Amino acid sequence: MTRRGNLFIVSAPSGAGKSSLIAALLKDKPADMQVSVSHTTRDARPGETNGVHYHFVDKAEFKQLIADNAFFEWAEVFGNYYGTSRVTIEQTLDKGIDVFLDIDWQGARQVKEAMPEAIGVFILPPSRTELERRLNSRGQDSAEVIASRMADAVAEMSHYDEYDYLIVNEDFDTALNDLSAIVFANRLHLAGQKKLHSGMLEDLLAD
Ligand code: GDP
Ligand code: ADP
Ligand code: 5GP
Repeated sequence: MTRRGNLFIVSAPSGAGKSSLIAALLKDKPADMQVSVSHTTRDARPGETNGVHYHFVDKAEFKQLIADNAFFEWAEVFGNYYGTSRVTIEQTLDKGIDVFLDIDWQGARQVKEAMPEAIGVFILPPSRTELERRLNSRGQDSAEVIASRMADAVAEMSHYDEYDYLIVNEDFDTALNDLSAIVFANRLHLAGQKKLHSGMLEDLLAD
């Protein structure tokens, strides 16, 4: 019997480093971890590939997917729509693969409601100045977009206490270790271990 995968919700203000941390965790393509590829109506950034970073769709297609109940959760963020496909998540978890959702706090709430066992991880930058520096250094958004993302950052960060774990991404390698520790500790959670080792537990505890 294989265990069911865990669902990790990772949120942070834009620029805090969540995409980089998830990408680093999955760098060696572990067979038992996957990031969920969202649908979005925003334009692809230079270097972003359709189907890899996002499924890029227009507003009409997105609305059709909502009507088809295809989304596990969806939300409007920075004037664009973002959503997580329902089927992919369920199928991947059933294969025993841990899934990471890089989604905003509105999506996180919907997921927690639908699946209370989902594990919420919030990532904070060490300061506002550093957050702004990272958004600029990424060099992929216009000055106008960066200003609007900075303005929304405080609102996003105010939701940190709706999550189960908090990581401060100051030193990248430390934050990566922290994320990894959360993932591996959750594989040892009692409820899952009891199911996985039920036969062994029966033998060990037999009269
Ligand atoms: P980032 O902030 O640099 O990661 O910029 P993105 O454009 O990749 O993401 C914009 C916002 O949309 C972030 O707050 C994400 O967490 C959120 N987001 C991305 N995908 C999803 C999704 O499938 N569902 C929800 N609810 N939010 C998402
Ligand atoms: P998010 O997905 O949360 O918007 P990114 O992963 O795109 O954030 O990170 C934003 C920028 O900050 C990127 O250029 C990334 O390389 C950089 N970055 C991430 N973590 C750190 C860190 N601990 N120290 C310095 N720069 C970082
Ligand atoms: P970006 O446009 O920089 O890629 O993402 C901006 C924000 O949208 C990020 O905070 C990201 O987490 C969020 N986001 C990306 N995909 C989804 C999604 O499928 N659902 C929700 N709710 N938010 C998402």
